[in-house]
Amino acid sequence: MTTMQKLFTEVSQPVATGGNKVTIVGVGAVGMVCAYALLTERLTNELVLMDMVKDKLQGEMLDLQHGAAFLRNVSVKSSTDDYSLTKNSRIVIITAGARQREGESRLALVQRNTDIFKSIIPQIMKYNSDTILLVVSNPVDILTYVAWKLSGLPIHKVIGSGTNLDTSRFKFLISEKLNIAPSSCHGWIIGEHGDNSVPVWSSVNVSGVRLTEINPKIGTAEDEENWLQLHKEVVNSAYTIIKLKGYTSWAIGLSVADICRGLIRNNNNLYAVSTLVKGFHNIKEEVFLSLPAALGCNGITQVVNQKLTPSEVQQLQESARVIAEVQSGLNFDLKQ
Ligand code: NAD
Repeated sequence: MTTMQKLFTEVSQPVATGGNKVTIVGVGAVGMVCAYALLTERLTNELVLMDMVKDKLQGEMLDLQHGAAFLRNVSVKSSTDDYSLTKNSRIVIITAGARQREGESRLALVQRNTDIFKSIIPQIMKYNSDTILLVVSNPVDILTYVAWKLSGLPIHKVIGSGTNLDTSRFKFLISEKLNIAPSSCHGWIIGEHGDNSVPVWSSVNVSGVRLTEINPKIGTAEDEENWLQLHKEVVNSAYTIIKLKGYTSWAIGLSVADICRGLIRNNNNLYAVSTLVKGFHNIKEEVFLSLPAALGCNGITQVVNQKLTPSEVQQLQESARVIAEVQSGLNFDLKQ
């Protein structure tokens, strides 16, 4: 008998998963902050990391495992190619892919990352027919559409991290201008994550006081206080940070963990996440864009029918048109 056999008397077989297992595909700058935030915020105690770069993957896994005793004994596993490890994941987060190069638009990344998705999604689905896919890789709205098509999952279970990050950047910048906490600044950035995102100036408010009532020109070029600049800064944030440190990671990792909190805790909180918007705001195209949506264990449960101005609707529709055009040129056929 081994020491282990002498030490224990088995009463029943342990279950395979505790129910909050999360897989992260891609352990780059973004994937690892997602992992760290999920573990330290105790949203999962079962993490699987997948990446194709063996040494880096193993190093990241070991480094996290060595902190397990500080994290209430979490389990962290990894593999380069054995997707059976991911079996029964509650959420699969995809951050794999090429990242933006300095000055490169998110749209230019699209086919490179679509090809990577073709190698990942079918493997995930083989072992996780009922999971929630949370796409982070850019261009996130298009890649969420690609993930939806490749996975065959119902629409409420394929979610893009979308403008949850842009909204957080917006709140931070408003908070700096008004000198109150970001969480007390209520405003939404919707639509496309990135260059064509839509700031909903018409509903920005602090404790119910809409800023348009105080400053009717807010968000327009005629506004003497130039609040418009805040949205420009939101749009330029990623470019600025990439120029300064090479990539963005902390805020996106926290944003993803925040979305996972909704999905794991079934909290019905509203998040600006990317979902199929055909039919909303008179959008005709089959595209994904961010709208405020409630999240629970089953994925997206409700989408808010925001009262938008004609100009805000027009911006969303224009984004939808551009994205549909890019999607039409995209090859996500698995056989090719
Ligand atoms: P990174 O280069 O540091 O990491 C990407 C990882 O993906 C690498 O470790 C790479 O080995 C892995 N990978 C590539 N192909 C793979 C495959 N087929 N299977 C498994 N792993 C694979 O990049 P990053 O900075 O972590 O960014 C990752 C993605 O997230 C990029 O597309 C980036 O543009 C995007 N991003 C999105 C947001 C957002 O708000 N949605 C914010 C920041 C970054």
